[in-house]
Amino acid sequence: MKELPLGKKIDLFPPYLFRDLDRRRQEEVKKGRDVISLAIGDPDIPTPRPIADFAAKAVKRAVNHRYPYGRGSAEFRAAVAAWHKKRHGIKLDADTEVLALIGSKEGLAHLPFALIDRGDSVIVPDPGYPPYTTGVLLSEGRLERVPLFEKDGFLPDFGRISKQTLARSKMLFLNYPNNPTGASATLDFYKEAVKFCRKNELWLAQDAAYSETYFGEPCPSVLQVPGAKDVAVEFYSLSKTYCMTGWRLGWVTGNARAVQALTKIKDNMDSGQFNAVQETGIFCLEHHEKLSAPIRLAFKKRMEFFSKELLAAGWKVFVPDTTFFVWAKPPKGGKSIDAVYRMLAESAVLATPGSGFGPSGEGYVRFALCAPDARIKEAARRIAKIAW
Ligand code: PLP
Repeated sequence: MKELPLGKKIDLFPPYLFRDLDRRRQEEVKKGRDVISLAIGDPDIPTPRPIADFAAKAVKRAVNHRYPYGRGSAEFRAAVAAWHKKRHGIKLDADTEVLALIGSKEGLAHLPFALIDRGDSVIVPDPGYPPYTTGVLLSEGRLERVPLFEKDGFLPDFGRISKQTLARSKMLFLNYPNNPTGASATLDFYKEAVKFCRKNELWLAQDAAYSETYFGEPCPSVLQVPGAKDVAVEFYSLSKTYCMTGWRLGWVTGNARAVQALTKIKDNMDSGQFNAVQETGIFCLEHHEKLSAPIRLAFKKRMEFFSKELLAAGWKVFVPDTTFFVWAKPPKGGKSIDAVYRMLAESAVLATPGSGFGPSGEGYVRFALCAPDARIKEAARRIAKIAW
């Protein structure tokens, strides 16, 4: 029988970058090579034991075995609101301004379904986390990439976005602390962003998935800016904060209409996250500092060490003060993909080509420090031996 046709939207997406990199890693492993992968932002550190112990009990409670309450249990949403009050000094209505997510990725990808129409433009950071483009493409929207330059600390220069682009745009994605660059944003920057979005009637979706992986002062929230709630929503995740990527829990908070619109989309698509995971999320938020501080410190040490080694090996490194990503250019420059494949061939270290995050990532390589310390040290030693 002739193959049945697939939907045309399937062709909108290039092969998922991380899948392809992982395929290459597996090929090398099959050849018997000891590959160190620093390609994926998925912490090697296990979820802290008290969290897993709490969850083991929550899993056994029969009340948790039925469908969850789609938008998140009232208790989880209240815990989120209480956490923000303590962490950022902001007041949120847990009933209307908080929505639980099955990890922040799905929320980020679904949001455009709720906020844009066919033909509307959405401004996305370049380089940027690929799922910002997902919902835009599936909604038949248009992507407008705003380049992030090192000279600007990888913050967008709003003044460079043309009037024509602004006229057709409905939404702007931001992401601080930033993947892939490791850059962070100040409250002053958020003030500027909120002013810009209010003036140009843009929804602002700020992705704070790495909000707790900071090495200096705690990162601010865009919702601390007066008037932000008129235009902004902010996405949070348990994934990196508590090394819980596999558990799939996050939330979005901010403008009630946008939160409710996304709730409506999700009510028609999924049935929410397992109640036992939500209960565990409450436990995490209530013991936040105790659980997250050691993880933060572990990444800080890795970051300091690895950045220093790369600099010594002649790499141009943007030394980050947040996240666990090192964003760097090889000593002699060149294309991202060439550097990545050369490292894989010569040192059996796998990193991510910056070009995979958008055209402005070309020339950079992203290292995710998500391997045990000894492996990261070994990776640095091997990379230093390459004669670029
Ligand atoms: N946002 C950014 C910038 C990320 O890098 C990631 C994951 O790598 C996510 C969001 C999604 O995290 P999760 O879906 O695990 O909450």
